[in-house]
Amino acid sequence: MTRFDLVLKGGHVVDPANGIDAILDVAIVKSRVAAVEPDINPRQAEALLDLSGKVVIPGIIDPHVHIRNVGHRNMTKVGVVTAVDVFAPMDDVLQGTKAFGTGMNIADITSIHHQIKEPRPVRAELDAMLDDYLASGALGVKVIQEPLPHETILNTIVAANEKGAYVKLDCGVTEEGSNLLGLKWIVGAAGSDLHLDVAHINSYCRGQVKDPIEEALDAIRLLEGKENIQSESYLGVINGTSGRIVGGVPLNGCTRDCLRLGGYPETEEGMKRALLDGYCKVPERVGGETLLLEGTEAFKAWLKTDQRTVCFPVNLPSVAILLATRKDSKKRFVVNAISTDGGSTPRNLIVNSGLALVRYGALTLNEFVVKTSFNPSRMYGMLEKGGLGVGMDDDVTVLDLERGRAGIGIAFGTVIMVDGVVVGRGGTIITTEKGVKTVKASGLSYDVIDLNQCGLYT
Ligand SMILES: [Zn+2]
Repeated sequence: MTRFDLVLKGGHVVDPANGIDAILDVAIVKSRVAAVEPDINPRQAEALLDLSGKVVIPGIIDPHVHIRNVGHRNMTKVGVVTAVDVFAPMDDVLQGTKAFGTGMNIADITSIHHQIKEPRPVRAELDAMLDDYLASGALGVKVIQEPLPHETILNTIVAANEKGAYVKLDCGVTEEGSNLLGLKWIVGAAGSDLHLDVAHINSYCRGQVKDPIEEALDAIRLLEGKENIQSESYLGVINGTSGRIVGGVPLNGCTRDCLRLGGYPETEEGMKRALLDGYCKVPERVGGETLLLEGTEAFKAWLKTDQRTVCFPVNLPSVAILLATRKDSKKRFVVNAISTDGGSTPRNLIVNSGLALVRYGALTLNEFVVKTSFNPSRMYGMLEKGGLGVGMDDDVTVLDLERGRAGIGIAFGTVIMVDGVVVGRGGTIITTEKGVKTVKASGLSYDVIDLNQCGLYT
């Protein structure tokens, strides 16, 4: 008689949470890890995957993405098993997962601007927004979009902290802007009392204030030892920002910064030249994936509609490596996790660039797992993820180190990707107790986490 639904046989299991770094078999029963042992008898397995020569790690969690439908496929293909959308309203995430889901686990942090239209909302409006977001199934709020007064940003963080909701800040909304000064302000203003997650530290180290490497070192000094601030950084060279023009000028401050950094005027004309020169690229959905258009093709696509994401090569790899690898005096990573800010934007590089860091010796394989699965699981309080202990969620990414890519993705015991081919459908929504009713009504499967256990509040 079989005891296990699936056995992953003979892979090199790397699971720092449980101190495992050895050739072992992983057995699964009903979406949970049932055993991690040497030589599990194949006759006890309903199904068997021979993973000799491959590396088996807890499923990769991308803590910062923008899924926009095609993102499901883009991410699953490259080994991401769990992703956190940090912008979209929950309803979009639910509908998108139903229509385009590839079997991944999806959580959402909703942008403040979907509900708050005035720059100075009163506290009751912020409380009502948080209640609505949590009831919609989201984990909390992302402070993003137009610049907001300092007071509004701090009030939002206080309201989220008091409600135990997740709160993530893009420094682009500060009066200082999406740069080191914005980061400096929030770290100072938060002191040791306010708890928050600061998004994509890379974005504040693009050379807008001083040399980018010095900015990265300053960012590290600012974040070091801050128990109340969590953060992530990505490895991609390109960013993703808005291509929208209003009154002859790019609407988004980050877009204007990118033009200036590339030596272009911060105008519609500058944007056109940057597109034609290939400095600004345009992601375009072609079939089931996203391609990056360049030159005349990019220009034409942007002319059709400027209401789309555009990409500039503004992130220095040297800064990315510094932020991805730096540890504090207690040997903990200063920036908690590696993210992508990808999803629909073709920069889903956790495995591709992350394993390059491993090959280079900048991260050990254990550290790669800490930064791409264990730490992000703790950031969000996904305590059943980030490791392969018995009883934990069976989320697995199988890595092919020789090819530097992911070979298999497994979410809750179900294979969702094999050799870059997506075989999963739908998805599991990660929500809180307050969001269960809405998520249940959507018909999607769900998993409940307790935000009291997330890194902001423990
Ligand atoms: Zn983002």
